[in-house]
Amino acid sequence: LHRNPGEAEFHQAVLEVLESIGPVLGKHPEYAESKIIERICEPERQIIFRVPWEDDRGEVHINRGFRVEFNSALGPYKGGLRFHPSVYLGIVKFLGFEQIFKNSLTGLPIGGGKGGSDFDPKGRSSREVMRFCQSFMTELYRHIGEHTDVPAGDIGVGQREIGYLFGQYKRVTNRYESGVITGKGLSYGGAQVRTEATGYGCAFFVDEMLRARGTSFDGRRVAVSGSGNVAVYTAEKVQQLGGIVVACSDSSGYVLDEKGIDLDLLKQIKQVERGRLDVYAARRGTEAVFVPGRSVWEVSCEVAMPSATQNEISAADAESLVRSGCIAVAEGANMPTTPGAIRVFQDAGVSFGPGKAANAGGVATSALEMQQNASRDSWTFEFSEQRLRDIMADIHDRCLLTADEYGMPGNYVAGANIDGFKRVADAMLSLGLI
Ligand code: NDP
Repeated sequence: LHRNPGEAEFHQAVLEVLESIGPVLGKHPEYAESKIIERICEPERQIIFRVPWEDDRGEVHINRGFRVEFNSALGPYKGGLRFHPSVYLGIVKFLGFEQIFKNSLTGLPIGGGKGGSDFDPKGRSSREVMRFCQSFMTELYRHIGEHTDVPAGDIGVGQREIGYLFGQYKRVTNRYESGVITGKGLSYGGAQVRTEATGYGCAFFVDEMLRARGTSFDGRRVAVSGSGNVAVYTAEKVQQLGGIVVACSDSSGYVLDEKGIDLDLLKQIKQVERGRLDVYAARRGTEAVFVPGRSVWEVSCEVAMPSATQNEISAADAESLVRSGCIAVAEGANMPTTPGAIRVFQDAGVSFGPGKAANAGGVATSALEMQQNASRDSWTFEFSEQRLRDIMADIHDRCLLTADEYGMPGNYVAGANIDGFKRVADAMLSLGLI
């Protein structure tokens, strides 16, 4: 704690992992002897830089850019960039730390990292966003590369921003190095299903959790928070799997739509017009209501899929969800459930899928994008989706098996933390004291 003052989210993420891996340390004294825990908690490298840019009126702004290269024992650093006013070192470090174990769980050769800026893209024109991205990459380019560090998107960074970032990387390096960034558009090296992957993967993960309980999505009420990339494609796959997504949200409130969210309308407003959710309710007519300023977790549902941001489900929200009949929760977002809320879910016998496992489909498909870039190949949508489905089923099964092996049956949090940790720790041991 004293080494990283004021980084509350980072402390929370580390504590959650450390609480799970006690039994592993007992079985493997060699981890303690070579100080794996101390080493894994210390990023290999942290880069903080100035990002100056000019808005459409000629006013100059200065933002702060971050890239935390956390762990490269398994492969090049891999993790998204977040553009949101709340971004500071503690957020980037929590995300980078989580990413180490998540990437390990995918079984693919990727290390962990994360980055971003306190830039707020909301209300900015595309030209302003482009100028910001160009300035950001003018510094970041010297730290990344397909064998070094491979960024992707996160909150506030979608395909538009990835395009501007990649364009500037190409310009300043004079290299068409497709594998330097993932989440690219299909016309310049992007992969099928990457856009959908985190949401689809999370829905596949819940499908597996429900199957393990002897049930399915069929006809179940599902609430999804957020209405960005993860939320939209979570809702899409849940509906394809037979669930009814009755609510979604943004930072202004939530929409309740008992007949099921109209995804075409939601995509039109959120992705094309970049508008707000009250517009969705107004256009949907009497079917839907917009509830301003309230949390979507007051909606009764059988499956909850938080897909917005960290610490959005409090213990009180969790109690209300359990009372309303919730049987499964999966984190599409990173760390959206507070530690108190996780305890409420686990004590009530709710199947709880932590983000490291449930939202790993995004980064897994990014690794598949890197694979296609390296071999100058591109796979079909169907093939890529099947790969994603298999990866999610494998992560699900390994979480359960590991939890069983360590005497915590059904505990996906312990299973994910232990399985993810062991692979990285073993690689670190093999590589020596570096
Ligand atoms: P987007 O920017 O596409 O969407 C974010 C959504 O969450 C928006 O609806 C936004 O509402 C809402 N939101 C963000 N911050 C807050 C806040 N502080 N309070 C309330 N609502 C908020 O991001 P993504 O969908 O890509 O990411 C969502 C989550 O999923 C994040 O936790 C991210 O780390 C995680 N994730 C994303 C992956 C990806 O592939 N994109 C991969 C794995 C995890 P508004 O527009 O009003 O701000």
